[in-house]
Amino acid sequence: MGSENHITEDTIRAKTTEKSFGRGVDYLDWGMVERVTQRGNRLFAEVQGSECEAYRIGVTLQDDDFKAACTCPYDWGGYCKHIVAALLTFVRDDFWVDSRAPIEVLLSELNAADLKALIIRIVDENPNIADVIDSFCGGPESPSEH
Ligand SMILES: [Zn+2]
Repeated sequence: MGSENHITEDTIRAKTTEKSFGRGVDYLDWGMVERVTQRGNRLFAEVQGSECEAYRIGVTLQDDDFKAACTCPYDWGGYCKHIVAALLTFVRDDFWVDSRAPIEVLLSELNAADLKALIIRIVDENPNIADVIDSFCGGPESPSEH
């Protein structure tokens, strides 16, 4: 997609513990990374976990840095092994990454009614998104307020 990737293995290592970095390398070697899609400066990936369902990873690339989130419950400092495995795929095997249109480009083609319909569908499928919309709109409001 023409967007430059400046992150390196050192960038990933700096934001993870030695243990999760090592496990991420194992996951990559074991072929646990199922899919990596790049949309502009965002990466989306699916990585097999210990459960049967794959974990989903979202990464935002910012010049030589990144922010990432994973659906696994890891909370022991730095990013988890799934994020490491997904990013290593991107850094080491760029050709393997599927490039698609950035989300911003797709959304810019929708009118207000389409966007509303899309967001309502997302909320129906992901109930926790309602809280994100609340905080985006300035926090929850009491329905009895008048
Ligand atoms: Zn994870």
